[in-house]
Amino acid sequence: MTQAGTRAARAGLNRPLREAPRPEVQPVYLSSVYTFEDVDDVEQYYAARPEGRYLYGRSGHPNRSELERAVADLEHAGAAVATSSGMAAITAVALGTLTAGDRVLLSTDVYGGTLELFRSVLGRFGVGCDFVDCTDLDAVERAIHARTRWIICESSSNPLLAVPDIRALAACAHAHGVRVLVDNTFATPLLVRPLELGADAVLHSATKYLSGHSDVSAGVVCADRDTISVIEAAAVTVGLVLSPFDAWLATRGLRTLALRMRAACANAQALAELCDRHPSVVETLYPGLPQHPQHALATAQFGKLYGAIVSIRLEDDRDRVNRFMRRLSEIPFAPSLAGAATSLSHPETTSHRAFTKDERRARGISEGLIRVSVGIEETSDLLEEFTHALDED
Ligand SMILES: *Cc1c(COP(=O)(O)O)cnc(C)c1O
Repeated sequence: MTQAGTRAARAGLNRPLREAPRPEVQPVYLSSVYTFEDVDDVEQYYAARPEGRYLYGRSGHPNRSELERAVADLEHAGAAVATSSGMAAITAVALGTLTAGDRVLLSTDVYGGTLELFRSVLGRFGVGCDFVDCTDLDAVERAIHARTRWIICESSSNPLLAVPDIRALAACAHAHGVRVLVDNTFATPLLVRPLELGADAVLHSATKYLSGHSDVSAGVVCADRDTISVIEAAAVTVGLVLSPFDAWLATRGLRTLALRMRAACANAQALAELCDRHPSVVETLYPGLPQHPQHALATAQFGKLYGAIVSIRLEDDRDRVNRFMRRLSEIPFAPSLAGAATSLSHPETTSHRAFTKDERRARGISEGLIRVSVGIEETSDLLEEFTHALDED
């Protein structure tokens, strides 16, 4: 028998169990490495990559596979790769598919982090970026450059809630040999499945609705198998992949996606209608309002749900915005979105800081713009709280 110190060092090393436990829910696999019988076994693993076998935590683990299968299924995709954040997902697409000299065409009001990635980081490696309003197809056509590789847009944009016509955008892009990547974070596959409309890849900040409880950072990219295999190879090499516990939390959140989205979208519609009628609100941006510039398209593309983000414009006055936030004493100013509870954000000073003041002004991201991530509270409570905050007595 080996000595106590040796046996202690080997405590918990995996031994095949005679009777496998059969948990209803997949456990968290915290092992950072997996074992092999011998050299033939490891060679066979590399040759066949059999499902259910893993080598090293960074290259894959059961919790990551489980989340990827679930999201690929929801997006009707051939495959998916889960990453440590939404930004890691966009980075993985870029590193897997672009080379120096290539360009991407970004929707003008793209998430500030996406802008920063291309302008401040990938720009230094020779990847260029241009901007276009993706709701204007003539402008898109004119903005495509000989080296444009991807058009990157959001299915419902952050924070202005512009809705591009994905089918038309994909047809236009494909006519020029360009692929379309849709950031489907705001709409989720419950409202729209961009791949079905002709997009080539879809990504999520799974930090948001897919997880839905403000307790995990994660991202997912979905596409056909070949595209995912190059994106995954880049993600694994660079180490952009998702940890077991975060994958487990994201999968747990996903189980209630439909319930959460239905409740939050219904609340958002009611809140948008309230804000639209209120004299203190200069403008209410929500695809579910009839005056939204893409209301008809959103109805066709999303069905009956229009998302759970409502952006409202108060006067461009910092004091007014601060008073509004303080009067919403139960609703946190928390610069993210998609938790179960309603929260507020201020794009100018948080998510869209990476834009210059002039760029923000050109896009309408002003001091009075407030982005409301509507949660699943009881509708009447929310409406009462917002009425109180807007009224100012
Ligand atoms: C939050 C967000 C991202 C970035 O995701 P992280 O998980 O924060 O890295 C990308 N796109 C959109 C639309 C987002 O809201």
